[in-house]
Formats: sequence, C-alpha cells, structure tokens
Amino acid sequence: SKGDIHGQVVVLGSGPGGYNAAFRAADLGMNVVLIEAGDTLGGVCLNVGCIPSKALLHCAKVIDEAAEMGHHGISFGEPKIDLDKVRKYKEGVVGGLTKGLAGMAKMRKVQVVSGYGKFTGSNSIAVEKDGKTTTVTFDHCIIAAGSRPVALPFLPDDKRIVDSTGALELKEIPKTMLVLGGGIIGLEMATVYRALGAKISVVEMADQLIPAADADIVKVLHKFVEKKYEAIMLETKVTKVEAKKDGLYVTFEGKNAPKTEVKYDMILSAVGRVPNGKLLDAEKAGVKVDERGFINVDKQLRTNVPHILAIGDIIGQPMLAHKASKESHVAAEVIAGKKHYFDPMCIPSVAYTDPEIAWVGLTEKEAKQKGVEYGVGTFPWVASGRAASVARTEGMTKLIFDKNSHRVIGGGIVGVNAGELIGEIGLAIEMGCDAEDIALTIHPHPTLNESIGCAAEIFEGVCTEMP
Ligand code: FAD
Repeated sequence: SKGDIHGQVVVLGSGPGGYNAAFRAADLGMNVVLIEAGDTLGGVCLNVGCIPSKALLHCAKVIDEAAEMGHHGISFGEPKIDLDKVRKYKEGVVGGLTKGLAGMAKMRKVQVVSGYGKFTGSNSIAVEKDGKTTTVTFDHCIIAAGSRPVALPFLPDDKRIVDSTGALELKEIPKTMLVLGGGIIGLEMATVYRALGAKISVVEMADQLIPAADADIVKVLHKFVEKKYEAIMLETKVTKVEAKKDGLYVTFEGKNAPKTEVKYDMILSAVGRVPNGKLLDAEKAGVKVDERGFINVDKQLRTNVPHILAIGDIIGQPMLAHKASKESHVAAEVIAGKKHYFDPMCIPSVAYTDPEIAWVGLTEKEAKQKGVEYGVGTFPWVASGRAASVARTEGMTKLIFDKNSHRVIGGGIVGVNAGELIGEIGLAIEMGCDAEDIALTIHPHPTLNESIGCAAEIFEGVCTEMP
C-alpha cells in the first residue's frame, strides 16, 4: 500500500552521500524523496563538518601567515579578533552552500521531507516532525544516515566540554583547551583554536598523532606543532574529568601522563565517530546492522535486503565525504539497473592541519603488514624552490612503489597544500602509472606539485638536479 508520499527511490539522510544519491537518481529519471531530520540539507559535512571547519581553518591560516611575515620584514601587528564576525563568516559559507543544495533539489524535483525517519516495514518509513508522522513508502531505499561523535561515558555534562559540533559553534576562545584524541578532527580544531589564542594540549592513546598515516609523515607535523602546543601526550589516556566552577580537572594515565590532575578551561572530545545504524529501526525492514551500528553492503552497495542500499559513514571506514559521494552515484545507478560497482583502487585522506597531511593508496605501514615488496622515493621540501620561497620547507613528498613492477601503490605528503597535491597520486594509482610515467611527466616549476615528479625520479635514481 502507498503511504502519504511514495518515491521510486527514497533516500534517508541528506549528507554528501544522501544528496548526491538523490540528485543522481533524479537525473536518471526516477521519482525521488529525500528525508532529512536537520533544518538544512548537506548533512554533517556541510553543516558541522568539512566545510565550517575549513572556513575556520582559513581564518587560522591567515592569522598564522601574517604573524610569520613578521620574521620576513612585514609586520601587521596583533590580530584583533571579532568572534561574532568570524562565526558569521563561517555561517555565511555554510548557508550559501546549503541554500544551493535546496535549489538543486528543487530544480530536479526531488521532494524533501523534513523529519526523523524510521523504518516501519520493508517498503515504508515513518517520518516524525513536531509530533506529526508522515508515512513514506518506496520501491527502493538508500540509507545515508551517517554518523555522530562518540560520547565518552566518563565525561560530565558540562557546557565547557564539547564535541566537534560544539567546537565549531565557536562560542568563546578558552585560555586553555585539552583536545581528547589526536586524529584529524581533533587536530584541525586544535589548529583553529590555537590561532585564535587558546593554549592547546593534546592527548592521544596511540604512539603517534593521526595513527592511520605513516610515522615519517606525521613526525613532520608533530615537530612543527610541538613548539606551538603546551603538550602532546602520546600513549596516554584520560581516566577522569571533574567539572568544578573554576575549571575542568583532568586525570591522566599512561606513558606521558602528568603526575597530578591538570585544570583546563575547555575540553574538545574528538575520539571518533559512531554510525547511526542502530537508530533507524532497520530490523523492521529486515536490514542487518552490526553491533557497532554499521550496515554491511556488497560491491553494489546493497544491504542484505536487495532493494535497500546503504552508503557513506554508515557502511564503514573511511568515514569521508568523497567516499560517500562516490558511493552515492553507484547506488543510484545500480537502482537504475546499471551493472556498476563501488570498487576504487584508493581513497585519499587529508588532515587540513598546519602543515597539512595527505595520503592515498597503501601506506608503508600497510605495505609492510601485507608483505608487499615495495620501494620508496622521498623528496624533502628543503630542496624545493617553491617551498623555500614561501618559507615552508619542513614538508616532504613520499611515493611508494611496487618493487618489481615499479607501479605506484601509495603516497604520502606533509606540507602546506598537501591536500591539493595528493590528487595526482590518486590518479596515478588508478591509472596504473609506474615511476617512469610520473618522472617523465613535466611538472611546472616552481611548484610544490613538482615534488611528486622529483620523488619518482629519486626512486628511479635519475634525479640529478634539485629545483
Ligand atoms: P552525514 O553527512 O553524516 O549525513 C547524514 C544525514 O542524515 C544528517 O544530515 C542527519 O541529520 C541525517 N539523518 C540521520 N538519521 C536520520 C533519520 N533517521 N532520519 C532523517 N535524517 C537522518 N570528511 C572529508 O572528506 N573531509 C573533511 O574535511 C571532513 N571534515 C570533517 C570535519 C568534522 C568536524 C567532522 C565531524 C567530519 C568531517 N568529515 C570530513 C567527515 C564527513 O563529514 C563525513 O564523512 C560525511 O559527512 C559522511 O556523509 P554521509 O552522507 O554518510 O552522512
């Protein structure tokens, strides 16, 4: 039976997975309904993730670069920070993009249903909004309900303790801030808050920051921020937080734990994200959700119920926007009857810290674990004319090759703009390029991009001159 609203394709959640799936399905001629609990389209990425964080990181970058220029003969003086205006800038960036999405949905005649959706059967979802329920029925469904921050049970309920969403609200700049978790999200927010004036301490359980990336790449970032932060406590964890009037008292345990409790004005909890799979009554549709909340899919992104597909953070790692959006296209195309698969050779990761860290394909760590015979070409940016001219020579570019075929199988970059540079290595991996292909490609001089060609030349042993 048909509900209040029927869609050939119903998409649950409007993040980069959901809105792209809805748009692609509509472009393929299907009648599409998009269900979203939030006030605007765009999901975590646009509203409280990728985009607002990058707007604030841009502010941080300008502050840091202006300060740095003091050493090169150009002084701007102390920055005057009007936090309300900074916040408005960020909101303007986000607002422009989410409005754009609403327009694109309208143009494609995608019907947006506002409210929180839960499955009521194998072909129906009940959407709740302000006590009113709308029944949406479907022929096909794409679950794109995303993820949320992990909530640590021992953290007291206190407005000085925030997750990434709270940190992005930018209510105030504390004097001291403890960042719980040295992953990408924690370190990006640390970059922002430090530039705006907070004294930062980071605590991480693993033996390096950004544990997924190679140690030699991360070491460069570590050395660079070590001087700017109060403390980086690796192999250490927080065991207790006591909220008192004058501050948050934190007890640590582990290798680099302070002996006594330490007081902070604010804590950012950034210890990971959990998928929203358990919040959807998915079992009523017969869709299996694992104990962590992830939904398993096949290479066509179908769940165990063939007419229900799932994409994005809710199906697993890496929890990244560009993975979600690429999956979304495949999901819509599969529903349209195309024999498409989601089977990428590699998915890039970027930390938009200062300096940036980016990697794609196999890391050295993974190559070792898998027993791959590999070789490395590393180009240190001290030898880069462009890096020298912007006074940022701490970076490096590393390519990882299959030892026998010389094909590139991975790459890691640390340095300014690493995120913009990593795309070429992804393309090289997808196209099966070998070291010679990259080395023979003429890169423009002087650019940071050149460092990729140089890393390949170094591996080939043909690097005769440094730029
Ligand atoms: P989400 O974006 O999580 O969207 C899910 C949507 O579904 C939400 O809008 C939610 O309201 C809605 N929803 C959930 N359940 C229901 C329901 N039952 N009914 C109705 N609606 C529902 N990734 C990058 O690639 N690059 C970055 O720079 C980056 N920076 C980030 C910074 C931060 C601070 C954070 C938190 C994340 C960042 N990410 C980044 C990760 C990125 O945001 C996610 O990978 C991406 O948003 C996942 O997209 P998605 O479509 O799976 O779901």
